[in-house]
Amino acid sequence: MIIDLRSDTVTKPSKAMLEAMWQARVGDDVFREDPTVNFLEERIAKMFGKDKALFFPSGTMANQTAIKLNTNPGDQIICDKYAHIFNYESGGASFNSGVSCKLIDGEKGRFTAKQVEEAINPDAYYYSKTSLVEIENTTNKGGGACWDFHEILKIRKVCDNHQLGLHLDGARLWNALIAKNETTEPYGKVFDTISLCFSKGLGCPVGSILVGDEVIMRDAIRIRKIFGGNMRQAGYLAGAALYALDHNFQRLVEDHQKAKEIGEVLSKQSAVKSVYPVETNIVIFELNDDVGDKKFVEKLKEKNILVIEMGDGKLRIVTHLDYTGPMHKKLLNEFKNL
Ligand SMILES: *Cc1c(COP(=O)(O)O)cnc(C)c1O
Repeated sequence: MIIDLRSDTVTKPSKAMLEAMWQARVGDDVFREDPTVNFLEERIAKMFGKDKALFFPSGTMANQTAIKLNTNPGDQIICDKYAHIFNYESGGASFNSGVSCKLIDGEKGRFTAKQVEEAINPDAYYYSKTSLVEIENTTNKGGGACWDFHEILKIRKVCDNHQLGLHLDGARLWNALIAKNETTEPYGKVFDTISLCFSKGLGCPVGSILVGDEVIMRDAIRIRKIFGGNMRQAGYLAGAALYALDHNFQRLVEDHQKAKEIGEVLSKQSAVKSVYPVETNIVIFELNDDVGDKKFVEKLKEKNILVIEMGDGKLRIVTHLDYTGPMHKKLLNEFKNL
């Protein structure tokens, strides 16, 4: 039994999900004739009160498309120093959209409206034009931290005052909605574009989506095509996403509970220096200086427990659909005897 906690992307589709995929009605989505893709896009757009949604092969491509839609070459976007779009998208913002990032020194990936205000370039020709603010909820590198929706509303106001777009990288927005008992519509109201992943906590093998209103989404499908993200009988993947929305969304609360318990046990161990507050399904912790990170990860691996090193002396555990009760019991026992 291998306990793989490196990411919530390691899940494999369940039999029931595979059955739903197998049953999906499909067509050529390049002709926009895949009924299951069309249905998924309509369902997600409706969930967020937006005009349009577009299915993507990856969250990276959905984010990169959103950046392209919201900016012009030479512009600058504002995001946190921990942002996925800055750290883990291979420099795509500059490669694809010709934009630079102004990084905010936030708190676990979150920042304030005041910090946004301060990061906006003055309106002078020798500055790059600030055109987009990007928020990540939950924050990945910030340990699955959730945003305070009131702060998001304040940031929207700043964006309105300065005519800036507002994009949400909601790869794990599902987790935030469950953890904070929030609904999708307010998010749809406040953001211009939102990307969401089905391939993380929801347990799909592939699939992300971008949602927004008619005007901003008009060129989304062209950009997706330029990025090479057009798909044919993608309904098999959309079928997995529809299944996941019905069966794997509400259960995220279980992943959060398990993560919390792991965090509590870890924080009591002498080898552990600190544990980030656990809000969702991610546990980030630091070891004491005399315990080598590499050695620790190797030792766990010998016990068939996989965790990931994030750099800066941080280790990460992510709970997920395929992390079962018996695995959890075994893991807590191992951690109690570190
Ligand atoms: C995983 C992730 C993405 C997208 O990743 P893909 O692997 O391209 O699907 C985007 N943002 C965040 C915060 C993520 O965790």
